Amino acid sequence: MKREGALLSWVYLGVGLVLTVASLVAPDPAVRDVLYLVAALQVIPSLLLSHHLGLMSWRPIILFCGVGVLYAAERAASGSEPTYESPLSVLLVLAAVGCMAGGLIALIRNSLPGSTRGILGDAVIVSLGTWIISWATLVQPITHSTNQKSVSIVLYGLYEPTSSVVLFLAMVLLLSRRQRPTVMWMIAVALAFNMAGDLLYALMDAQHLGTSAERVALPMYTAAYFVAAAVGLHPGVREIGRPQPGPKQDSLGRLIVTTVSLLVPVIVLAGTAPNDSTDKFVRFISALVLAAVVTIRVVTAVRANSKAQAELIRGAQTDPLTGLPNRTVLLERINDLLRDSWGSDIHPTLFFVDLDRFKNINDSLGHAAGDEVLVTVARRLVNAVPREAVVARLSGDEYVVLDASARSQGAAMASAERLLAVFREPLALSQGDVFVTASIGVAVINHTSATTAEDLVRHADTAMYRAKDAGRNCLAMYDESMHERVAHRLAVETALYRALDRRELRLFHQPILDLQSGDVVGFEALMRWQRADGTIVSPAEFIPIAEDTGTIVPIGSWALLEALSQLRKWIDDGVCSPSATMSVNVSPRQLSDPNFPAIVSEALTRSCVSPQLLWLEVTESVMIAEPELALATLRRLRSLGVRVALDDFGTGYSSLSLLQKFPLQRIKIDRAFVHGVADNPNDRSLVRTIVAMGRSLGLDMVAEGVETVHQLQVLSDLGCTKAQGFLISHPVPPDAMRSTVAALERLGQFPGLRGQATTRST
Ligand code: C2E
Ligand code: MG
Ligand code: MG
Repeated sequence: MKREGALLSWVYLGVGLVLTVASLVAPDPAVRDVLYLVAALQVIPSLLLSHHLGLMSWRPIILFCGVGVLYAAERAASGSEPTYESPLSVLLVLAAVGCMAGGLIALIRNSLPGSTRGILGDAVIVSLGTWIISWATLVQPITHSTNQKSVSIVLYGLYEPTSSVVLFLAMVLLLSRRQRPTVMWMIAVALAFNMAGDLLYALMDAQHLGTSAERVALPMYTAAYFVAAAVGLHPGVREIGRPQPGPKQDSLGRLIVTTVSLLVPVIVLAGTAPNDSTDKFVRFISALVLAAVVTIRVVTAVRANSKAQAELIRGAQTDPLTGLPNRTVLLERINDLLRDSWGSDIHPTLFFVDLDRFKNINDSLGHAAGDEVLVTVARRLVNAVPREAVVARLSGDEYVVLDASARSQGAAMASAERLLAVFREPLALSQGDVFVTASIGVAVINHTSATTAEDLVRHADTAMYRAKDAGRNCLAMYDESMHERVAHRLAVETALYRALDRRELRLFHQPILDLQSGDVVGFEALMRWQRADGTIVSPAEFIPIAEDTGTIVPIGSWALLEALSQLRKWIDDGVCSPSATMSVNVSPRQLSDPNFPAIVSEALTRSCVSPQLLWLEVTESVMIAEPELALATLRRLRSLGVRVALDDFGTGYSSLSLLQKFPLQRIKIDRAFVHGVADNPNDRSLVRTIVAMGRSLGLDMVAEGVETVHQLQVLSDLGCTKAQGFLISHPVPPDAMRSTVAALERLGQFPGLRGQATTRST
């Protein structure tokens, strides 16, 4: 389609060229006339074809077709008489030029975003300026020389101003583009031919040229029509109508043209004397109107400019989504308050409000709902604080309230409670009601130490994290110890980055016992971090940090290879049976890594361990947060032959559907239930239910954290087949495993374990 259009366009140009030359050389004026009419009317079918090809929309097409029809009608009506002789001819010509201007405006409207009011204002100035020139240099001389004072001459005087608008609009269209495709130049050529024809006629009408100049003038129009038709059929014309990505600011070009259209009339008016009182009157009124239009244009431009400036300033100071002040404004206000409240009993307080699990809302309900939440929360916070308080949005789901009304810590906490209460009612979103909670950190300006605005925001932020750690949906007041905690965490984070390289990480292993045979059937690898100063950091402390910072990915890969190599060694050395398994804990971050199955596969290959001997222990969080991703990864792991255990079963939201939906082969009953299984009837019935459910689903079951013989016995009675815990063995370093396994196997079958179970300490 595109190529057909381009070809047609060139055909039109070719035909246009031939007919123009024919018109130029034709000895008979009648031939020129016929060629002119053909050229003017062929615009209609070619533009209809353009619409059929989907190149142009209806509005410009109708207007441009109007140009051809009106000019053809004018030619038929007036023949070669001077145009100003007949009012009908002048009206037809004016209407044609009006259609041309309308068509250009339709094109500009579609392609230039924003208001076209300024462009139209400039167009009015240009046309008024041209009107004055046209009056003084064209209409007046004609009236003077022909002694006619008809309406058609005045109307004729409007012709130049209307055409100047067409020229001006074409200029705007050309200048507003960063790129000017061929078709833009074709438009310019068509207009140039048209203007050349107009100029020749104007000179003939003003009797500066003889009527023989029509011989050249008519072919100019013939060429203009064919080029215009070629434009309509050129595929590039579609681009002109399309909105421009970041249109070029052409203010300078427009300014020059508009200024020239102001200056030239002034020079013309000053340089030519009025012929009579009518001339004087027309000159005066025209100059007055021009002055009024220019004044209006300047005033509106200045207004638009200051509005744009105000919007820029507001944009730099506010958050576009909620309309709240941003961080810059907040810091300024804190600094003001720090200065003003010095020495007074006012204690400006900062409340750092962070929504709990906001990511879940975005992930599950979509970003539009997330935005609705942010806007609604902003509105509620503003309503909940005194009028003088500042509510700012720092980023994402973080808001800060700065309130100078509190005079004591107690009052500050009471204000914080009120902010927390803002979240008690559900938020009414377009998708339905949702409950959102927040964690709030409170920091009071302390005049005894030199605190900057940034420090204060950081303190409130630190306190907010304490509130999150304390289980979310609560408050925490900042104190110095929090700063130490943050500093400590930062130190741990930094040290953890280097722990792997410095070989500070080790794996301890805890045996898993089969309760029927009493054999050690597997081990769980548990990470230990021995820092350079000898202190041992618990995985419960450093694994979450490694998760947060992403270090868990390399550390986890190392643990996998290390654990499997250890199993290989133990099997080869006869420490355990060749069918003993290794359980490795996998964190959610590792499971969301698309590379993870490849890492597992490589570790199995490098350690020469068969996939059936590896158990990966995962927690349900990843299956809830990113179910699709988790399912895909677990399926890929399953296809490797690796088995997957659901760790800490029963502590989270563990649901039956999870066990059905995901390819899991084992559940590990959490220590929390095992702890009470012997004495607490509730825990016991829960474990009974878990075991029954696991059995019916054909899952392997391991009880975690068995500490007493009684617990072990009850678990065995309830049908649980495997167990691990301090009763059997603490996690031990690799070189202690031979003796640990030997001691366990010496104890024999499960009944023999009673009362004699060994405990080994780490
Ligand atoms: P987990 O996977 O549930 O591991 C069992 C935890 O219970 C271990 O704590 C173990 O030492 C402890 N434990 C075992 N028997 C008993 C008992 O009878 N009584 C009590 N009170 N505790 C017992 P540990 O080694 O401190 O590990 C804590 C958690 O850290 C693990 O829980 C696991 O989620 C995570 N973790 C440990 N190593 C790794 C690792 O290599 N990668 C990942 N991603 N997480 C790990
Ligand atoms: Mg585990
Ligand atoms: Mg566990």
